[in-house]
Amino acid sequence: MINVKELHKYFGSLEVLKGINCHIEKGECVCIIGASGSGKSTFLRCLNLLETPTKGDINIDGINIMEKGCDVDELRRKVGMVFQHFNLFPHLSILDNVTLAPIRHKMMTPDEAKKKAMELLNRVGVGDKAGSYPVQLSGGQKQRVAIARSLALSPDVMLFDEPTSALDPEMVGEVLEVMKQLAKEGMTMAVVTHEMGFAREVADRVLFMDGGVILEEGTPEQIFDHPREDRTKEFLSKVL
Ligand code: ADP
Ligand code: MG
Repeated sequence: MINVKELHKYFGSLEVLKGINCHIEKGECVCIIGASGSGKSTFLRCLNLLETPTKGDINIDGINIMEKGCDVDELRRKVGMVFQHFNLFPHLSILDNVTLAPIRHKMMTPDEAKKKAMELLNRVGVGDKAGSYPVQLSGGQKQRVAIARSLALSPDVMLFDEPTSALDPEMVGEVLEVMKQLAKEGMTMAVVTHEMGFAREVADRVLFMDGGVILEEGTPEQIFDHPREDRTKEFLSKVL
C-alpha cells in the first residue's frame, strides 16, 4: 500500500529525513516510535504531502506522489490523518465537522453524508454529541470525532501523529480502543505514538526512528524484548 524509497527532506539546510526506506502492506498497522526531533512527524506529513519531500520515491496505492501532476486532493481522500490537537472546526457542530468534506468533495449528497456521519459517530461512541460543538466535548471525545471525520472520506490508509499525547490520562484508553478496533477491521495504519503498550499489543511492526532514519524495525517482540541497536535500547530504557 505504501512504498517509500530513499526519502530525504530538508528544511533549508537542515536535513531532517536522511533516507527513509519503508513499506507498509495493505491491512498492516505499523507503529513509529523514537525520540522527539527524530523526524517522525515530518515523515508522516510527507506521506500526504503536508510537507513536500525533497527527494526520493513515495508510492501509495499505485500513485507516485512525487510526480508533478499528483492530485493532492485525491491523495488526501485516500490517506486520512489524525493530529495530536484534533484540529476540529470550532464554528461547526460535530455532525457538520464530519459531513463537510464528503459534501464539499461531492462524494455524497448531504443526506447520505449525514447518514454515514451518524454511523461513524455512533461507531466511535459519540453519536449523542452530533448537535454539540467541539468546545463542549472532552479531549477524548474530540479525538474520536476527528477519527470519525477522517473515516468519512473512506480512506485506504490512516496516519496518526501522536493522537493521544494531548489528552488527559483518563481519556487515552478510549481513543486507543477506537484505533485498536480500526486495526482489527483491517485498516492500513501508520501510528506515531509514545503508547508502548498499544504498539506492543496492536502493531504488526514497529519502526524505531533516530536522527532522520529508520534505525531498526521488527515485530513488537523484536523491538521491545530484543532490540539490536544501542540507540533503540537507550530510547526504550527511558520510555518503558
Ligand atoms: P518528531 O515528530 O520526531 O518530534 P519532527 O519531524 O517534528 O520530529 O522534527 C524533526 C526536525 O525537523 C526537528 O529538528 C524540527 O525542529 C525540524 N522541523 C520540523 N518541522 C520544521 C519546519 N517546518 N521548519 C523547520 N524545521 C522543522
Ligand atoms: Mg512529532
